[in-house]
Amino acid sequence: MSRYQLGTKIWAFSKCGSKCGLALICLALFAGCGPREVTPAGVNAKPTEIYRWKLITTWPKNLPGLGTAPERLADNLRVMSSGRLDIKVYGAGELVGAFEVFDAVSQGTAEMGHGAAYYWRGKIPIAAMFSTVPFGMNAQEMNGWLHYGGGMALWEELYAPFGLMPLASGNTGVQMAGWFNKEINNLEDLQGLKMRIPGLGGEVLKRAGGVPVALPGSQIFTSLQTGVIDATEWVGPYNDLALGLYTAADYYYYPGWHEPGPTLESIVNKQAWDSLPVDLKMMLRVATRAINDDMLNEFTARNNAALQTLVEEHNVQLRKLPDDVLAELKAASTAVLEEVAGEDELAQKIYRSYMDFFADVRAYHQISEQAYLQARDTP
Ligand code: CA
Repeated sequence: MSRYQLGTKIWAFSKCGSKCGLALICLALFAGCGPREVTPAGVNAKPTEIYRWKLITTWPKNLPGLGTAPERLADNLRVMSSGRLDIKVYGAGELVGAFEVFDAVSQGTAEMGHGAAYYWRGKIPIAAMFSTVPFGMNAQEMNGWLHYGGGMALWEELYAPFGLMPLASGNTGVQMAGWFNKEINNLEDLQGLKMRIPGLGGEVLKRAGGVPVALPGSQIFTSLQTGVIDATEWVGPYNDLALGLYTAADYYYYPGWHEPGPTLESIVNKQAWDSLPVDLKMMLRVATRAINDDMLNEFTARNNAALQTLVEEHNVQLRKLPDDVLAELKAASTAVLEEVAGEDELAQKIYRSYMDFFADVRAYHQISEQAYLQARDTP
C-alpha cells in the first residue's frame, strides 16, 4: 500500500466516524483492497439483496480437508452475511469435470471455484508457481510471499485476462512423495514409471525418465488398482487414508519434494465479484483467508494419527526417497522452472518475485525455523 493510499484511508476514517472507520481499518489490513472499494456509500449499499452463487470444485464432494474446506467456507459466509451470500458447493463432476473448473468460472457457468493453480498448467504454465514449486517454499513461506511479498498482486494480474480473481484458500503443508507398487532404490527405478503427478512436479519426473499422468482425485484409486498407473501422489496421510490408496500400493514414500506446501485457490468470476457490495467483498476476503489457515491447521492435526493407522493397521511400508534420487529431481526442477519462467514477460516477473522472496526467507529460516528444528530434535 502506498503512503498516498494509507493517507486516503486515514482521512476517510476521520470524516465518516467510528462505524465505517472500523470497516476501513479492516480493509487496510488486506493487500489488494484499493481505495475504489473504500467508499462509505458502498458499505451495506444493498443490505437486503441475496446473492446465490454456485461454487464448483476440483475435489470429490466433501473429501476430508480439500473437499470440506469449500463447504466450511460457504457455511461461514452464510452465517457472516446473515444469508445474503448464499453459496452452494458442487463436487467434481456434479456440474462440470474437475479440470473444467477454471473455464467454467471464467465463462460464468459458476460464480466461484475451488482447486489448485497447477491444474491450469496446460493453459497458463506459470500459474503452477502460485500453487507449489518443487523444492520451493513451504506453507508458511508461501503465505508470506502471497500476502506480504507481492505474490497476490501478480496472481491477480495473471488471472485478469480470464475474468477471474484468485484468493488463496487452503494449504496442505508438505505432502508425501506418494504411493508406489515397487521400491524406489535408484534412478533406474523411475525409468518409464507411470505416475499420477500434477504441476511442475510432473514435468520434473518426465525429465528424470518417468511418465507423468494427469488425473483428478476421483480417478486415482481405480487407476492405481487396475495398473493404469504404477504410482501416484495425492496429499498426505490424512487425505490418502480417506482415499483408500493403501489398498492399491504397498510403498509410501517421503518427502513430498514436488509439493512442499501447495496453496489451494478460490477463483471468483470478476463480474460476480464486481456485483457484490463492499461488505460482502470483505467477508469473502476474510473468509477465504481464514479457510486458507484452517486447512493447514486441520492437516497438521490429523496427519500424525492417519500415518500411524496406515503403518500399524494397514501394514504400509514407509520409505524415504534415496538421496541421489532427490538430488537428480532437484537438478531437473531448476531446469524446468527456468524454462517456464522464460515463456513471457509476466512469467519472468512472477519467477523473479518468487525467487527473490524465496532467497530472503530461506536465509532467515536457516537461522530461525531450521536451526530451531535441528536443535529441538538433536538428542
Ligand atoms: Ca499432491
